[in-house]
Amino acid sequence: MTTKMAINAKELFRNQHRLIRFIEQSIRMCSNQTLKQQQQQKTQLEADFQITKSITSQLSTAVPEPIVHDEDVGQQFAASALSVRLATPQQLQPKPDNAEELGFGKLFTDHMLKIYWHKSLGGWQKPQITPLENLVMHPAAKVLHYAVELFEGMKAYRGVDDKIRIFRPNMNMHRMNLAAQRSGLPTFEGEEFIKCLSRLLTIDSEWVPHTEAASLYIRPTLIGIDPTLGVASSDSALLYAILSPVGSYFKSDETGAVSLLADPSYTRAWPGGAGNRKMGSNYAPTINVQKEASRKGLQQVLWLYGDDHQLTEVGTMNIFMLFINEQGEKELRTPPLNGLILPGITRDSILALTRQWGKFKVSEETFTMHNIVDLLNKGRLLELFGTGTACVVSPVNRISYLGKDLYIPTMEQEKPLHETIRETLMDIQYGKVQHPWSVVIE
Ligand SMILES: *Cc1c(COP(=O)(O)O)cnc(C)c1O
Repeated sequence: MTTKMAINAKELFRNQHRLIRFIEQSIRMCSNQTLKQQQQQKTQLEADFQITKSITSQLSTAVPEPIVHDEDVGQQFAASALSVRLATPQQLQPKPDNAEELGFGKLFTDHMLKIYWHKSLGGWQKPQITPLENLVMHPAAKVLHYAVELFEGMKAYRGVDDKIRIFRPNMNMHRMNLAAQRSGLPTFEGEEFIKCLSRLLTIDSEWVPHTEAASLYIRPTLIGIDPTLGVASSDSALLYAILSPVGSYFKSDETGAVSLLADPSYTRAWPGGAGNRKMGSNYAPTINVQKEASRKGLQQVLWLYGDDHQLTEVGTMNIFMLFINEQGEKELRTPPLNGLILPGITRDSILALTRQWGKFKVSEETFTMHNIVDLLNKGRLLELFGTGTACVVSPVNRISYLGKDLYIPTMEQEKPLHETIRETLMDIQYGKVQHPWSVVIE
């Protein structure tokens, strides 16, 4: 290929996204949504925005403490040194056109972000965006033996204004760095990573679904790749990110609710363990229990802990219950961050929002299966739901516990709280209201 042809091909590729977007916009303009409808929608959005603006302006967004890097991490990487190698037109994958059939994490976009860390080379190396490709590593790589691995789960949303947003990314970066510390992997500057990730999102932006029924899942991952078998910190690591367009995460029944298996003979996390970190080693041992739940016709596992059967998490979600307390007040409760609980960003956001609403009591306290049974008997349990990035909120309608079926009236409430929470968070994520939690990718 001559240089000139190469440049033309590159230009063509760069602009194909814009061309596709232009065509899609034209199609949408001419199809189901008339301009008048669009205008009405906009006015409604502005009205909604007026209401929420007054609430959100006083919201104190928890900003995590900056990470202190260990001396032996060495040099940090800078987004300004990012290099980009684009996929050739032949390498581009067809984009899915049906959001309902996406499933979760089955399809990937055309590019990925990679940043190597080598102790012998002084620390973090230059970040690179490359076509999505297989990783090559030595069969002794530590990740393959001792699960020296951690990950994050984030999403990019295409807003009603066609802008792409990510949600509280600094929280994910902080959590990832805490997991890196726990695994003896190198820590990094989250802000620089987000800048590189934003570039990746811009390059693969046409993969962010044009619908509120889907989004682009972001999977940052950090692995130890040192080719030595010692159970020791890895002298080489790879930090990377891949992107996957996703629909809804869980198979629920027609009502949208999930049923749970609560078997006290299994434990997901314990005091002093690492259940509060998104490390791969926490998830492999849950798969067979999840299979058992599926065999029994149940959708998720309710993880219990301790002799008193404390509720800790639902599958890979945090758990919340809404109930009437001893004082006759409505109360929203979730277990405290006592080391057994993954510090969910959805969890944190729900706590901040509901505390700001001030409509009911909000608490972070342990609750047990005994409490659930007692509240059910007294008719004071209102809602039970899981929360997480993948699904926002996932209502629970049944728990199978010690051979009994407990029916939870989550779906029978008149104006259920989990619905309001889902709508509020999605309005922020899809840019229907301006909010400091939503970060626009320029
Ligand atoms: C990821 C995860 C959550 C939810 O965290 P978010 O930041 O809200 O997505 C909850 N529990 C477990 C076990 C998780 O892995």
